[in-house]
Amino acid sequence: MKYRYDVAISFSDAQKDIAVGIHVALEKMKIESYYYLYRQEENIGIDLKSNLRKLYEEYAKLAIIIFSKDYSKGNFTRLELSAVLNRLKLEPSYLILIVCKGAKIPKSLSKLTYIEWNSDPLAIAKIVKKRLQTKPSVKSSDIKVFPNVITIGRNKHESFLADHRIDPITRQLIRVGDKVVVCEKCKLVFLKETWIVSLNGIHCNQNKTLKELPLKIDFPKIEIEKINRMMSSLNFELYTRNTGFFF
Ligand SMILES: [Zn+2]
Repeated sequence: MKYRYDVAISFSDAQKDIAVGIHVALEKMKIESYYYLYRQEENIGIDLKSNLRKLYEEYAKLAIIIFSKDYSKGNFTRLELSAVLNRLKLEPSYLILIVCKGAKIPKSLSKLTYIEWNSDPLAIAKIVKKRLQTKPSVKSSDIKVFPNVITIGRNKHESFLADHRIDPITRQLIRVGDKVVVCEKCKLVFLKETWIVSLNGIHCNQNKTLKELPLKIDFPKIEIEKINRMMSSLNFELYTRNTGFFF
């Protein structure tokens, strides 16, 4: 599936001059952007709220948020932000965040890098272009279920940590504070990035994940080590995607 838009621009009405400037700069570079003031006739008679959610969760390849002090006050912008945050869980490179002078970034966005608005829409358009070229084409429509993400806690997952488990693909040690995803079928524990980027959200030919770490991991540790050793000599991605029987 092709995305309907390269970029969707989310902004509060007070920043519409900035948004239109960016929109025009993008158009000049032949980048298709969704700027709602130019698409009002398309929106007549449809459920605007559900359409906006779909726009940010599915239809756009990238999103731009022009964040200002007005942004968190708007009903539509709040809805758009929540859709963007959902998508960000799956695609960390989905958002280009532009922050206007004097705006205080909310907690939900505080970990992201951002660009301070410097009145240069062309510079933003160039960043968008570059991001579009380098972005892997993970189709959000392919990802049917959002994975359950578990954060490893020092006390809560004490025995898990004591086992010094590693990510089955990257072989990175799983530590306190790491975000992991557990395949519902084989119960293997993957780092979230591995699950999303390397496995594309699929393991054992399915995409279901556990809500909590299994109390007792069915595979004895030695078994997992053995599997890891065998797997390290194979092409992980193809192997894990195509051979559900292995686990
Ligand atoms: Zn599995």
